[in-house]
Amino acid sequence: MGERSEKSILIAGAGPTGLTLALELARRGVLSRLIAKASSPTPTHESRALGVNARTLTLLEASGVSAMILAKARRLTKFKILAAGKPLVTIETETFRSRYCPIQILPQGETERLLLQKLSSFGIAPEWSTELTALSGDGKKPVVTLQHADGRTETVAPDMLVGADGAHSAVRKAFGFAFPGNAIDSRFFLADYRYAQPVDTSFIEMNFLNPGVLGRLPVSEDTMRYLSTVEDFETRIDHPAMVQERTWSSEFSISFRHVETMNRGNVFLAGDAAHVHSPAGARGMNLGIEDACWLAFLISESREREYSDLRMPAVKTVLKDTRRNTAFITLKNPALTGLRSLLLPLVNHMPGLTTAFLHNAAGQDTPPPPWIPGAQ
Ligand SMILES: Cc1cc2nc3c(=O)[nH]c(=O)nc-3n(C[C@H](O)[C@H](O)[C@H](O)COP(=O)(O)OP(=O)(O)OC[C@H]3O[C@@H](n4cnc5c(N)ncnc54)[C@H](O)[C@@H]3O)c2cc1C
Repeated sequence: MGERSEKSILIAGAGPTGLTLALELARRGVLSRLIAKASSPTPTHESRALGVNARTLTLLEASGVSAMILAKARRLTKFKILAAGKPLVTIETETFRSRYCPIQILPQGETERLLLQKLSSFGIAPEWSTELTALSGDGKKPVVTLQHADGRTETVAPDMLVGADGAHSAVRKAFGFAFPGNAIDSRFFLADYRYAQPVDTSFIEMNFLNPGVLGRLPVSEDTMRYLSTVEDFETRIDHPAMVQERTWSSEFSISFRHVETMNRGNVFLAGDAAHVHSPAGARGMNLGIEDACWLAFLISESREREYSDLRMPAVKTVLKDTRRNTAFITLKNPALTGLRSLLLPLVNHMPGLTTAFLHNAAGQDTPPPPWIPGAQ
C-alpha cells in the first residue's frame, strides 16, 4: 500500500459511479465530498441499468455490497435469440466457469440504494440538489462553483475534482475534454410492464423482427422490460400474464463516444462522463463502477496520474464490443438479416463462441483488478 491521500477530493455526481468512488475511497480511509444535481438516487421504477455483471460483483465484494446485491438480485440462466418468434440460439449461463453468474438482474435504483446504505456506515452522504454550475482555474488547481437547493452558492478549490456527472458532464465540458464519436440513426424504445402475478425472470430474450428487434428482460419478480427499435413495438408484445400497469416508458438515441484522456492534472472523469455507448451488453453502469474502483485504488496508492493510461484500454474494448453488438442487432439489409437467421443456430454447436459471449457479458474482457488476488 502506498501513502494514503490527505488531499481534498470533490466528486461531482452520485450515480453508480460517484457513489462507488466515495465508498471505495472511504473503506480505504480516504474521505471525499460527494455532490449531486439530482434530489435523490434514481427512482427504482425508472432504472436504466438492470444488469450487474460478474466483474462488478468481484469489485464490490470487499465493501460488502456484492453480498447485498446477491441477496436481492435475480440470476439470469439463459440468453435466448429468436427470429419472428422462432428459436435460433439458447445460451445457458450455468456453463460459464466463474465465481459469479455472468449477469444478475437488479434495477439501478436499488443498486444505488445499496451503495448509499454502505456509504452511510462511513458517515458519508451525498449532498443532493447541489449542482456544479461553473468551473475556473485550470486542471492543476480546479475551482468550482456549487449551487445549493436554497439558492446559496459556494466556491470550492479541491485538490482533486472527479467528474462522475453523467453523459452531459459539466466537468468534461468546462475543462475542454474532447468527446469524439458518433450517434447511430436507430432510436430505441422501452416500456416496463408489471403483471398481476410473478413471471419467469430467469432469461433474456431477443427476437429479431426483421426489420427491427424486440428484446425482453426481467426487471423484478412481476415486471418485465421490453426494448425495441420499432416504434409500435408494444402491439407486438406477447404478455406472459395479465397486465397490471405500464410502470415506465422512455425512448432514447444512441451515441458511441469516449474522451481521449480520463485525467488532466487534478481533474478526473469516470463513468458516463467519460464514455457513452449503447445498452447492448449491459456494460455502461458496470464500466463506470469499474472506473470508480480503479480510481479509488490508485488515489489510495498516490498513483492517480496513471488512471487514464490504465483505464483507456478497457473503455476502448467495451466500446468496440458494444458497437459490434449494436450493429449486429440493428441490421436492416434483408439479405444480411436473412443470413443472420441462417447462421445463428450454428452457435448452439460452437461452445467457444458461447464462452466468448458469456466472458464479455460477465465484463471479464477488461484487465482484472490487480489489488484483488485471483480476480477474473
Ligand atoms: C435503457 C438503458 C439501459 C441500460 N442498461 C444497463 C445495464 O443493464 N447495465 C449497465 O451496466 N448499464 C446500463 N445502462 C447504462 C447506465 O444506466 C449508465 O451507464 C449509468 O447510469 C452511468 O452511471 P454514472 O454514475 O456514470 O452516471 P449517471 O447515472 O448519469 O449519474 C450522474 C450523476 O451526476 C449528477 N450530475 C449531473 N450533472 C451534475 C452537475 N452539473 N453537478 C453535480 N451533479 C451532477 C446527477 O444528478 C447524477 O447523480 C443502460 C442505459 C440505458 C439508457
